[in-house]
Amino acid sequence: MSEYQDIPSLYGSSVFSDKEMRARLPREIYKRLAASIATGEELDPAVADATASAMKAWAIEQGATHYTHWFQPLTGTTAEKHDSFISPQKDGSVIMELRGKELIRGEPDASSFPSGGIRATFEARGYTVWDITSPAFLYDNGDTKTLCIPTAFCGYNGEALDQKTPLLRSMEAVSRQAVRICRLFGDNLTQRVTTSVGPEQEYFIVDRETYLKRKDLIFTGRTLFGAMPPKGQEMEDHYFGAIKERVSNYMKDLDIELWKLGIPAKTEHNEAAPAQHELAPIYNTTNVATDENMLVMNVMKKVALRHGLVCLLHEKPFAGVNGSGKHNNWSLTTDTGHNLLEPGRDPQKNWMFLLVLAAMMKAVDEHAGLLRMSAANPGNDHRLGANEAPPAIISMFLGDQLTAVVDHIIRGSEETVPSASIMRVGVSTLPFIRRDATDRNRTSPFAFTGNKFEFRMVPSSGCIADANTVLNTIAAEAFGAFADELEKAEDFEAALHALIRREMTAHQRIIFNGNGYTDEWVAEATRRGLPNLRSMVDAVPELVKPASVALFAHQGVFTEKELRARADVSYELYAKTINIEALTMIDMAGKDIVPAVVRYTGELARAAREVESLSVDASVQKELLTRVNVLLRQAGDALADLRVKQEKAAALTGAEQARYAHDVICPAMEVLRAPVDHLEMIVDGRLWPMPTYGDLLFNV
Ligand code: ADP
Ligand code: MG
Repeated sequence: MSEYQDIPSLYGSSVFSDKEMRARLPREIYKRLAASIATGEELDPAVADATASAMKAWAIEQGATHYTHWFQPLTGTTAEKHDSFISPQKDGSVIMELRGKELIRGEPDASSFPSGGIRATFEARGYTVWDITSPAFLYDNGDTKTLCIPTAFCGYNGEALDQKTPLLRSMEAVSRQAVRICRLFGDNLTQRVTTSVGPEQEYFIVDRETYLKRKDLIFTGRTLFGAMPPKGQEMEDHYFGAIKERVSNYMKDLDIELWKLGIPAKTEHNEAAPAQHELAPIYNTTNVATDENMLVMNVMKKVALRHGLVCLLHEKPFAGVNGSGKHNNWSLTTDTGHNLLEPGRDPQKNWMFLLVLAAMMKAVDEHAGLLRMSAANPGNDHRLGANEAPPAIISMFLGDQLTAVVDHIIRGSEETVPSASIMRVGVSTLPFIRRDATDRNRTSPFAFTGNKFEFRMVPSSGCIADANTVLNTIAAEAFGAFADELEKAEDFEAALHALIRREMTAHQRIIFNGNGYTDEWVAEATRRGLPNLRSMVDAVPELVKPASVALFAHQGVFTEKELRARADVSYELYAKTINIEALTMIDMAGKDIVPAVVRYTGELARAAREVESLSVDASVQKELLTRVNVLLRQAGDALADLRVKQEKAAALTGAEQARYAHDVICPAMEVLRAPVDHLEMIVDGRLWPMPTYGDLLFNV
């Protein structure tokens, strides 16, 4: 692969990067554009026109014929509407054109995107607005190349109809409040504080031919039936070698595609389930990281097809095998380059770090339910709280040393934290925590990992915007509250120390360094009063409870109307997902599985009769027939029951429908699955109508 040899010239070649802008735009225009990108200020029309024209020329040189405003509606995926550059002229000819106003604003017919009732279909108007801080890129779809312009999508009155608008608002909010914290410590240089995110993406790779024989994977992204293979996750290392070549060719190709898009990916094998892998990019500004992650998911799927593979992004494609998530690594950095989550060596900055840490404890403790909701999707219900990483209860892992520091502060102790490393608490000598001092706790949903927090609940198939919007907003709120108090203080140092101690004491309960998978932790968390929202349906109300409404309004991130709309969209998404799953099960069980088992009982009955006709003992045949028949009866009853319940669900709407789907349909699906999985293990393999877990997990 020769492309692999010249990575520097390949890297970012499909992006209208800063380098490209600098080279192609008149110096004055470039300066004004760069200033707008840095400050987020509106572009003036002359700059927009010149930029559009240069962008178009670049795209056409690379073979593009169309452009699109690329956005993230509330469907959880990306959307685009392609327009060609062609602009007919009076003389019947065409020119290739992209005007500034087309670059900046688009007006897709948006009536069919979910809006939670914000926009009735008769007032379908929605606008896409260029996010100038996220670079435009070329999307290569075989024969066609399209210039993609990352945009935010909102309604006629500016209501957010997408994931990006609130995310951008939350970035503004956290910057505003974090700058106030910087000022308290005499930092008068910082103008902006940016949140950075590095999302580690987990995924499964399966063979496409095998995949195509599974209706459940095709329609729902996960297996709805399937018995465990004789060998599962326990043998992961042994099977590692066997999957290597095909998958590593895929990864190599994936790297190239992502590098062209300027996405700094390093792919690697995952150590968890068979056929499961992970891709970690280098972190970026939150909105850019979000766009990049949407692209990563898209390109992963696209490149897999080229290799005769399918990339599964579902949170739980296989029962009994580890699921997939995203580790959302999050940090805050000033425009002068200081990471506010860096414990550091400098005493003054350490007090600042402790203040930031206290703010994060307060934020996560007070809004644990919201954070949980931000990671909710129907697929994640199979991971969170299901004895798998991580539990549905939000807690914060700080590691032993940092926890000891917090303890000492709470107790008002001036003594040195007993540790091998240089760590003291007191007024003048301050803790210094080495990066590797935070040991690796894998079970915590929210872990401090050296100079960032790692939010590990995020669903593998979802958009990371939700989680980061909440993180930014709750951090902003806590920073704001602290700044309000400390800006007024007469004796800053005394007030600072008192505040840190008070807040760490008040929110101590959120810290947990133990094993989050145990039942003891669930009991302990209940004692501490920490919420345990086990399902998405349980979590949705968090969006609209008074504390959340007040929080988002205060930070200017969501209006109450927007929150209610999002709750509606969430219920609908949940109910629709479960409905598709139920219908798929009904289809598979009714049309494929039951008929196959009926055939098998026929074979067994004939065999028994034939054997008996020779006066030979047929008890084995009969016993097997009886067992199969009992399970078939159970499956038949469960199928009939699921049919009835699915129809009932279809008659409901909104929260009621989602609740019913969760409380009634999901258990009914489990009741159908159990006898079928059992049958899979005893029915003649030749007759089983679809590939097994073994075929799917060990066939690549
Ligand atoms: P790990 O030990 O978990 O592999 P890494 O340092 O490799 O940690 O980082 C994992 C992810 O975290 C990567 O995507 C990386 O880019 C991201 N990351 C590292 N530092 C930061 C930071 N300061 N802010 C946000 N993300 C970060
Ligand atoms: Mg990680």
